Amino acid sequence: MSSASSFPDSVVSSQPETLTVMGGGLVGALAALYLARRNYPVEVYERRADPRQTGTTEGRSINLALSDRGWRALEGVGIGEQVRSVAIPMYQRVMHDQQGKLTYQPYGKENQAIYSVSRNGLNRVLLDLAEANPHISLAFNQQCQVVDLRNRQLVLRDTTTGQEQVRSFRHLFGADGAYSAVRSVLQKTDRFDYSQHYLNYGYKELTIEAGPGGAWQIEKNALHIWPRGQYMMIALPNLDGSFNCTLFFPYEGPQSFTALQTGPQVRAFFAEVFADALPLMSDLEEDFFRNPTSSLVTIRCFPWSLADEVLLLGDASHAIVPFYGQGMNAGFEDCTVLDELLDQHGTDWQTVFQEFQRQRKPNADAMADLAVYNFEEMRDRVADPRFLLRKKIESR
Ligand code: FAD
Repeated sequence: MSSASSFPDSVVSSQPETLTVMGGGLVGALAALYLARRNYPVEVYERRADPRQTGTTEGRSINLALSDRGWRALEGVGIGEQVRSVAIPMYQRVMHDQQGKLTYQPYGKENQAIYSVSRNGLNRVLLDLAEANPHISLAFNQQCQVVDLRNRQLVLRDTTTGQEQVRSFRHLFGADGAYSAVRSVLQKTDRFDYSQHYLNYGYKELTIEAGPGGAWQIEKNALHIWPRGQYMMIALPNLDGSFNCTLFFPYEGPQSFTALQTGPQVRAFFAEVFADALPLMSDLEEDFFRNPTSSLVTIRCFPWSLADEVLLLGDASHAIVPFYGQGMNAGFEDCTVLDELLDQHGTDWQTVFQEFQRQRKPNADAMADLAVYNFEEMRDRVADPRFLLRKKIESR
């Protein structure tokens, strides 16, 4: 566990103010851990039930690719090794063409890798750590309904009983995701820029089952891609031998979610375009119709803060499409940068918030652009022989 004693008491005032974090997802939980290291009492409010008790992931991507910026943030609160022990290194992309021919593209040199980690598993580790921290209090089933900026008050609704409570806040961290309630209040303040852009593509989670004895049926240490021009499927390995697949597919058109309405249609489509994967997906039809089709959005906004009162973190300020595998990593990096700024500016929250958004906004915008670009690359260009040649030269 992180040590609160590593910071001198002078870092915070003798009676530190309570900090409020909205959202106990990946970024909210990690942010709470970083803030609590400075002896601040931290209150975390989360809309969902405790995922450690329900085991739910709300249908979102089960596996995520964790890369350097994410590792650095986890190491900062002392859980790099713990997470590494349940992460699977992916050293390369494996491309599956329509005939089932495989092409291998290393991610880097000398065993460089990105890592497949379970979203729910990672969230549990962070919540366990937060719960064990005497400075942090966690409250689940608490949905932020109202943020009253003038009176610095929150209205929270208990999602199980419907009861509402009013809480005061002094410094509020909005880590409540792409559809942030905290951000929605900032959107009504003067000169607040906001845009959201949806791709014409949705995504659906599917599964490649584990083989006999929990064996991986395709290369374990790789991110698999089936690029098909206008759409693609990817797969990330799980520890139990299965793979979590994501089909990125147009909403409308001749080859689209709308065009696949029956089990036989889905099977025939997969037999034609994902022929090598189909025999490994015995629950395909069930998964396809049971799992939701989810949308892909890029959200940009600015400023990310209001005076010394509110700061947005993670997807609340910069939701990006998942093709660069950097949404969570960038949100984790937010926590590292916030921590560095608190080192530099102490309790001058307004400076910390302003400097944070000044440093992070250009990075977040670049990441958003790269994510869309990478979609085009993964979907299309990775199958292009000229791209393969370039990659081969780069990896030498
Ligand atoms: P969230 O994970 O959305 O968490 C927000 C939390 O706030 C939730 O727990 C929610 O219940 C809670 N909340 C929401 N509203 C309220 C409210 N009103 N009151 C109280 N609580 C509230 N990123 C990567 O780095 N690598 C990947 O490989 C990757 N793959 C992805 C694949 C897909 C298909 C998708 C959609 C995303 C992927 N991402 C990936 C992005 C990653 O999932 C997000 O960037 C990350 O989850 C952001 O974390 P967050 O804590 O900011 O937001």
